[in-house]
Amino acid sequence: MIEKINDAFKKYYGSEGELYTSPGRVNIIGEHTDYNFGYVLPGAIDKAIYAKIKPNGERNCRIYSVDYNDSAEFSVDSNELPKKQWGQYIYGVIKEIQKLGKRVEGFDFAFGGDVPLGAGLSSSAALESVVGFAISEAFGLGLSRFQLAKVGQMCEHNYVGVRCGIMDQFASLFGQKDKVIQLDCRTLDYKLYPFNLEGYKVVLLDSQVKHSLASSEYNVRRAQCEEGVITIQKHVNGIESLRDVNLDMLNTYKNEMEEIVYRRCKFVIDENQRVLDACSALEKGDSKTMGEKMFGSHQGLSKDYEVSCPELDFLAEYAKNYEGVIGSRMMGGGFGGCTINIVKESDYDGFIHQITDRYNSQFGRPPRVIDVVISDGARKL
Ligand code: ADP
Ligand code: MG
Repeated sequence: MIEKINDAFKKYYGSEGELYTSPGRVNIIGEHTDYNFGYVLPGAIDKAIYAKIKPNGERNCRIYSVDYNDSAEFSVDSNELPKKQWGQYIYGVIKEIQKLGKRVEGFDFAFGGDVPLGAGLSSSAALESVVGFAISEAFGLGLSRFQLAKVGQMCEHNYVGVRCGIMDQFASLFGQKDKVIQLDCRTLDYKLYPFNLEGYKVVLLDSQVKHSLASSEYNVRRAQCEEGVITIQKHVNGIESLRDVNLDMLNTYKNEMEEIVYRRCKFVIDENQRVLDACSALEKGDSKTMGEKMFGSHQGLSKDYEVSCPELDFLAEYAKNYEGVIGSRMMGGGFGGCTINIVKESDYDGFIHQITDRYNSQFGRPPRVIDVVISDGARKL
């Protein structure tokens, strides 16, 4: 990929530039907790977007996408959203940086990567992060990683139309090799935990399904959590979100809420605790307990929060029963996408072979296998 970018840069701009990269991410545990101001545990991965940049002394930005073999050109002063979606990410990042009062000049830019698109690994955050990071460095803007994460998130909100949280950009910018990031979505404080699972591999199994339910059901879940909070607020002071609610409180007022609201809230409270438990386990090098929390997370997502689907349940269930898999769960919003699995190296080949075979007989197509290694965040190469 780097070679392709170098070649394209030379071919289109006839010069050399500086090379940057920013990765996609996985989330080990902590699902549907972000909008409830809870905890998540993402890590950056070895799949990334790479970009070469060089200021060109003009007001225009010339952009070349290696993967789409397509180009775009616009002025940094433009107020017109580019038509091509990939161009919107770059334009949006420039606009958000300008909103911080920073001066961005024209530049030449070529980029590409190997983060699978739309598979739940956040190729979009990788793209925003590398664009922001490269611009900040190229023009000496001195933006912090935290500012760049916000820039990426706001780019999605304001220029792409996706109202995402900040986890993906955060992981892409703050990630470190063999470490995962416990992010507190209420305060945005974060802490790194060792994720050095000697003898184990992390593998994603992409169910290759994308249910159209995802966004409507997402809104329903948010409303149900909100309903639970409102019920507790009537009795307890200082409750702003499910983060402030514990199981005792929830059980005390259980009879005042619909059973389904109770289950949704219980899942969120349990899931936050699972993140904390997984982190303590990682600190002690106890990967087995961490993996058990992942199994628990899937169970909760499937039965209490009800955001799984037959394909994801099949993959998680098969993995759970497979000797040598110590953790597995659906990852992301649900109703499709990937499971994330922690598999003993010596059992890896057998596991992949068998689960592929069984999934294929059940659903008529194999899952896509995506190996990942927890790696460093945005950086200059
Ligand atoms: P994801 O879950 O991977 O973030 P999104 O739909 O949010 O999926 O973002 C995918 C979009 O990001 C693509 O449609 C494209 O516009 C942009 N993108 C991601 N990776 C690349 C790439 N390598 N080259 C060009 N555009 C990319
Ligand atoms: Mg995205």
